[in-house]
Amino acid sequence: FDHAIFILHDQLNLDSWPDWVKKEKPLLIFMESGDKGREVPHHKKKAVYVLSSMRHFALECAEKGFDVLYHSTAGHFDDGLKEILSQFEGQLTFMTPSEWDSRERLRKVAGEFGDKVEEIPNSFFLADPEEWKEKIEPGYRMEYFYREMRRKTGYLMNGDEPEGGEWNYDEQNRESLPKNHPVPEIKRFEPDEITKEVIAMVNDYFPDSFGSSENFGYAVTRDQALELLDQFISERLDQFGPYEDALKTGNNTLFHSQLSIYMNNGLLTPTEICEKAVESYRKGNARLNSVEGLVRQIIGWREYIRIYYEAMMPDVRNANHFGFTEKLPKMYWTGETKMKCMEQSLKPVFDEAYSHHIQRLMILSNFSNLTETDPRELERWFLTAYADAYEWVELPNVLGMSTFADGGVLASKPYVSSGNYINKMSDYCKNCEYSVTKKTGEKACPFNYLYWNFVDKQRETFNDSGRVNFMVNMFDNKKSDEQKKEIRESTEIFLSSLERG
Ligand code: FAD
Ligand code: SF4
Repeated sequence: FDHAIFILHDQLNLDSWPDWVKKEKPLLIFMESGDKGREVPHHKKKAVYVLSSMRHFALECAEKGFDVLYHSTAGHFDDGLKEILSQFEGQLTFMTPSEWDSRERLRKVAGEFGDKVEEIPNSFFLADPEEWKEKIEPGYRMEYFYREMRRKTGYLMNGDEPEGGEWNYDEQNRESLPKNHPVPEIKRFEPDEITKEVIAMVNDYFPDSFGSSENFGYAVTRDQALELLDQFISERLDQFGPYEDALKTGNNTLFHSQLSIYMNNGLLTPTEICEKAVESYRKGNARLNSVEGLVRQIIGWREYIRIYYEAMMPDVRNANHFGFTEKLPKMYWTGETKMKCMEQSLKPVFDEAYSHHIQRLMILSNFSNLTETDPRELERWFLTAYADAYEWVELPNVLGMSTFADGGVLASKPYVSSGNYINKMSDYCKNCEYSVTKKTGEKACPFNYLYWNFVDKQRETFNDSGRVNFMVNMFDNKKSDEQKKEIRESTEIFLSSLERG
């Protein structure tokens, strides 16, 4: 072979590679790396998904007439690649990895092998970070970027005007789920022989990793992922918007798409998801606030987050605005807690390596912040626990959006709340051992006193952020000295008995 390309586990779509790949049919090299699998104790289902979809994709490429070299190494990608390059006479091309460390490793190999190794830009995203990353600084908000992306893609645009006259319909997207409201089930796929083999291998090699590999039902091929996309568009998209922030006991997805895992390794493209959603709106099958909301998550948030990663790495890894040093509460690893909202948000993570955005943001991250946990502990946990977690998307969401660790570059305010918000958006509190209406004391909802304690202690940050300094005023002027004392006492008792690590 005079030309080979190295395809990483999150670059599994030849339509997203430059056209010459399909025309020239170079040798395709895939690699399973033991050290990559061991970087964090990845959820077993995530490991199964990553490996099984790569094996399926490599086989499909071989069926399409490509020569394929599927290699495994106990070491890292670069170790495996060096072994191959020392025997390979031709030219090797790799695409810039979306994750920082893999990029550094492959660039080192390129340095060692000189002209023999060529790097091409990552073409799995819609926006070029080089065009945008200079703009990332406090005050540059996702919304500005999103409008540019709407103009660039033409999604939901009438000439230069947004469809319906508004750029954003989030005001219509904050409903809680009515009682007995039907929610369609998501199709699951029986593991085939390849997936079964990977499950056995993951259980063998990584027995102590997080979560369970049982009842694996994800799609592992593009065709299966396309079935899930079609099902989402026809059965859930229309109600995606109104119930986007809703939380419900026993259902971790509601009307969310559950498509991030397929987008993040290339099985589905962001473009095809948005195009199908917009088509559904044009045909009158899905309401505008739902379709606009989905398009904003994908061409807005997803792309913006990636540009933030490019602009802020590697220093952002050490970000810790509040200076918290505590270990993660133990319940994140065991799932054991009397707090219904935490139990309901952790359970789907153990079982399915998934929970939806509001569980991630307003419950799991909120609690971690209020219990003064080191944000980098939470960040490693998210990377470990979720099937869609790759550092480029997970780290900005945790250190930028959900913990305010970057001091306000990404978010305009810390995302923290008392039990009130959770009670408004969910049915959790009804079945909780704690009382959401009690503010302090043994039976009171921990979110209540922890929230006010946080506002009091982090008053400088709240005061700097004009939008939320009224919370500090409320604490200072509306709470009596007795109430303040009780808040501090309840917090101290709760935090001192909270198991960590
Ligand atoms: P939907 O609600 O159906 O949204 C559609 C798509 O929009 C998603 O598939 C996703 O690709 C995109 N999207 C929405 N919000 C974001 C966002 N904030 N950042 C990037 N993309 C977004 N997303 C990941 O893909 N991987 C992660 O590891 C990850 N970690 C997160 C950690 C925290 C603390 C928070 C608050 C958010 C995180 N997100 C992450 C973003 C978001 O929560 C998930 O993309 C979403 O929940 C995935 O489920 P879904 O496909 O059902 O999403
Ligand atoms: Fe969560 Fe508090 Fe509601 Fe219990 S009462 S479910 S701890 S918000």
